[in-house]
Formats: sequence, C-alpha cells, structure tokens
Amino acid sequence: MGIYESFGVTPIINATGSVTRLGGAPMPAEVLEAYRASAAEAVPLEWMQAAASRVIAEHTGTEAGLVTSGAASALTLGAAAILAGDDLGRMEQLPQTDGFPNEFLVAREQRNGYDHAVRAAGVRLVEVGFNELVANAGVRRTETWEFEAAIGPRTAGILYVRSPDSRPRLEELVRMAHRHGLAVLVDAAAEIPPRANLKAISATGADLVTFSGGKAIRGPQSTGILCGRRELIQSAALQLLDMDDHPELWEPPGAWIDRARIPGIPRHGIGRGYKVSKEEIAALLTALQLFVGGAYDSEVALYLPRLQRVQQALVGGSLATRIHESKDGEAFPVLEILLGDEKTAFHACRKLRDGCPAVFVGHSRLPEGKLLVHPLCLADHHIQPLIERLRQVLVAGES
Ligand SMILES: *Cc1c(COP(=O)(O)O)cnc(C)c1O
Repeated sequence: MGIYESFGVTPIINATGSVTRLGGAPMPAEVLEAYRASAAEAVPLEWMQAAASRVIAEHTGTEAGLVTSGAASALTLGAAAILAGDDLGRMEQLPQTDGFPNEFLVAREQRNGYDHAVRAAGVRLVEVGFNELVANAGVRRTETWEFEAAIGPRTAGILYVRSPDSRPRLEELVRMAHRHGLAVLVDAAAEIPPRANLKAISATGADLVTFSGGKAIRGPQSTGILCGRRELIQSAALQLLDMDDHPELWEPPGAWIDRARIPGIPRHGIGRGYKVSKEEIAALLTALQLFVGGAYDSEVALYLPRLQRVQQALVGGSLATRIHESKDGEAFPVLEILLGDEKTAFHACRKLRDGCPAVFVGHSRLPEGKLLVHPLCLADHHIQPLIERLRQVLVAGES
C-alpha cells in the first residue's frame, strides 16, 4: 500500500503543472535526500539562513537572500522589510502602520489574488494606470509617469508583478522609483524558467525579488526565495526568525545580520508564523543548485516526446490538438486540446477529475473550449493511464 492509500487518499494524475492546489512540482531524489540528511543533526536556523543567503546571492546576482515559506510569504516579508527597515519599533507594530508611510503603488492591471500577501504586512495598495487593450478601449497600458504622479507623503514602495509582457518595463520603473528613494518589490514567483531570469530580474535594479521554490526549481512546495538588497533582507530575516534569545548572547552571523544597524533585538515579528525549517532550507538550496546547474535538462528533454505520445493517441477522434513547443528549450511545452466550446470543455474537465484515476488537466483556457496538458508533474508511468482516460472521455465520449 502506498503512503497516500495508507491515509485513505488516492493519488491523481497531475497534468496541470506545479500548481499549489495539487501539491506542486515533483522533488528530485537529491532534494529528498537533502531533507532527510539535514534532519539528522541540529543547527541554529540563522546559521542555515546565512548560508542560504550566500547561495541565493550567488545564483541571483544579488547582495543577500532568504528562504521563505513560499513566494507568498516572501511578499509579506519583503513588504514588511520595506515598511520597517531597521526600525525595531515599526517591526513590533506591523501590520499596524500608524505614524509611518504604508502605501505601495501598483499597476491596476497587475492586481491579483497574491497581493493579499503584501497587504498582510500592513500595506495599503494604491492603484495606478489602465490596461486599455483588455478593456478594448484603446491601445495603451500603464505607464511610468502614472506611478510618478501618484507618489505622495504616504508612499512607501512599489509592487510589481513580473510577467514577460508586464508594463511598464521594470527597468524604467525602478529608475524612476530610485530617483524618489522608493524601493520596488517584484513578484516573480513563476518567472522561471528561463533560468536566466534568476539574475535578469534583479539586474534591473529592483530592490527585492521573490521566486517560488516549489515550481520549476522543484524544491519543497512550501518554500520560496526573497533576494535583493542586504539591508532589506536583514530586516526581512529579523521579522521571520525566532528571536527568543538573550541580547547578551545573541550572535547572528555578522556578514548577514549587522548588529550595529539595530539598537537591540526585536521580538517575534510579523513573519514568525511563516517559519521555514532547516530541512526545507537544505532541500530548497539543493534544488536551486540542481536547477541552475542544468540537472533537470535531461528530464526537460523528455517532456515533448511524452506530450507527442499523448497527442498521437488522440488522433482519430474529431479532436483538434496542438503542441506549443518551447522556443528557448527551457520553457515547458504544452499540449492543447480543442473541444470547441466552453460547456463541452468544462464537462470534460469535470469527467476527467471524477474518473479513476482522477486526471487534472490545465483549466486556464476552459472558457475558450480548450484543455491543456502540462508535462512538469507527469512521469513515464502516468502517460498510459492519462491516455486511456483522455480517450475514454474525449474520443469515446464517456458521459
Ligand atoms: C505561485 C505564485 C505565487 C505564490 O507562490 P508560492 O510559492 O506558492 O507561495 C505568487 N505570485 C505569483 C504570480 C505566482 O504565480
């Protein structure tokens, strides 16, 4: 009996990719081994986070880094760092922000469910700009001058949600923000692959950048990365770490936390509930090194043939299928199955989830009548059962 069956839970076939709802990406054996091995001994968490800072800094081209409990908590901690800086009184006060600036500017078109994590630190989001393309009311999107025009005495920072076509351009926004002494916090949770983005996004000068640890990096689903300017990472670390020590004895690694910057030691901060274990840190760092070192490339090369196998097996019905191939060899190829209309697509998606084994396909394009098959969480042994279920529902018309 498998581990899940022993708890009365039946595993599914995840053809959706690394979504959190379905347990994230598969962890490589080396990552699991790092988790197991690091559980055998004790280490102070701040030593482990200081080591993590060095590894993350190296691979992101930043001054410092922190392992967080997901990119979402990196957003909360990054926002808390920008709000509080070195001010222990502010750290103690958060998420209450009376007496100091707490507004972050954000492009209206970049608002999304994850910005709750930024607001959780005490930030009030102030929206600027429009996406007139989406509104079908014009040709322009949010522009940098709109951010600049909105800066006022309560402005504390800027939130930017990065995607390949996000506007305005991050470089341009960062230049403007720095002219006004404002920090930019970037949500880049799902912006890798490509690997180059680990460095390229910070290279824009952005002050803090977040990545998910449990998506393409394939670390524990519960991990994330915050990287950027040393003093902001220090503030985020102080608000994350357990602080129960005597001021006379507390000795955090000096290269990482500069005690001279702070007059005492803060109590538990707003991030204390987002704790990260030493095992999670060891596992995430191992995954990051594998990812950066190209250890997943041979696996990535299998994605396209696997999708082609699924596509071939669907030939013969009245289905139109199409594979969106990776242009750079790093992005995930995706198989698209066109069912024609929204109602049919929702029905098929429901049948696939209800079947045995349950199959979860990508559901972001259902309104366009499309199912998506994403390869990240599909192993070889999933392909045949996946094909059988797809054929039963889509070709044989199981109802
Ligand atoms: C996935 C995602 C997050 C959250 O990442 P976690 O590591 O699951 O906390 C935040 N923002 C965006 C844009 C994401 O895609």
